Amino acid sequence: MKIPLLDLKSQHKTIEEEIDRVVEEVLESGHYILGPNVRALEEEIADYCQVKYAVGVASGTDALRLSLLSLGVGKGDEVIVTPFTFIATAEVITQVGARPTFIDIEEKSFNLDPAEIEQALTSRTKAIIPVHLYGQAVDMSKIMHTAEKHGLKVIEDVAQAFGTEYHGWAGRPRKLGSIGDVGCLSFFPTKNLGGYGDGGMVLTNDPEVARRIKMLRVHGQDSDCGHSLLGYNSRLDELQAAILRVKLRHVDKWTRMRRQNASLYNELFSSSAVPVRIPFQVSYARHSFCVYTIRTPQRDRLRDYLRKKGIETKIYYPLPLHLQKVYRNLGYSDLDFPIAERASTEVLSLPIYPELREAQIELVVKEVKKFFHCIQFNY
Ligand SMILES: *Cc1c(COP(=O)(O)O)cnc(C)c1O
Repeated sequence: MKIPLLDLKSQHKTIEEEIDRVVEEVLESGHYILGPNVRALEEEIADYCQVKYAVGVASGTDALRLSLLSLGVGKGDEVIVTPFTFIATAEVITQVGARPTFIDIEEKSFNLDPAEIEQALTSRTKAIIPVHLYGQAVDMSKIMHTAEKHGLKVIEDVAQAFGTEYHGWAGRPRKLGSIGDVGCLSFFPTKNLGGYGDGGMVLTNDPEVARRIKMLRVHGQDSDCGHSLLGYNSRLDELQAAILRVKLRHVDKWTRMRRQNASLYNELFSSSAVPVRIPFQVSYARHSFCVYTIRTPQRDRLRDYLRKKGIETKIYYPLPLHLQKVYRNLGYSDLDFPIAERASTEVLSLPIYPELREAQIELVVKEVKKFFHCIQFNY
């Protein structure tokens, strides 16, 4: 039995008829970009995430890029960010002319450590980008407190955490992306709400930010079709929006299935005393398990072993950003973030997708257990 890291086809099979219907409607409509489905999706997601405005864009990367631009972050500014994330988060900071200020992560949650922010601040610091890695929430109440105290903007990177519920802010449960000044979603197919191609969305309660994002995504075009700023081509298309509207209706069920799969893994790893660290879950939010990441110093050998057994795994992320060639060349080579660096040598993500069956999870755990049994006797 082969177990892939992800199985997008099996999810498609479960909604095939609904998808075929809406795709056919879009094809028949002749309206393919920024039409009624994009508008409806924007409203539905604003409603789901409890924000006033949601603006569809071409990708999660563009959601981050246009957010920085709409908040006026640019040349000479600094933005606080974790080095333990997908490169898109930092790349856009550099591309708008600002400088990422990396800070180390928390040992347990793998997320940026709010306690590290204040000592990294300078007079140029303009914003913080908390990345809710793997579907686990950053401690937003600490982030918001620090941001307020120092007048910083907060851009949440929610690419891996669509639907994660946060309990520690303003007395009622909130969806991630609704707490900072701006929240950025990715609809890349592997994310919790994934399209059948690229897509992204910006969430905000600020009408001025929403207005600017709407201009930036269409070449800076304003309401009377003039151009008052330089923008981009970053539009969401109707096919993606129509497909995402179907998938939005299923996403809570899929998140529940991811959480159930995570619970089963946790239970099996714990009860069989396998020497891996299972994912820590913060008390102030409900993890949505976009990714299920275990931790062990034997990571590379375990990964090879599982590959030979037909079990696909992945490393998110094998090299923290300050050690990537592009950032070493930009003068980051002297930095060291020991917690992120050690994590990058020990993390391993296992299959967690909603359609994964119980027997498959049992097999993964059985093989992990066998691996540790073998190395015990080889030493
Ligand atoms: C996927 C991802 C992005 C980028 O999203 P795209 O839609 O692929 O451009 C940004 N940040 C994080 C943390 C991601 O996982």
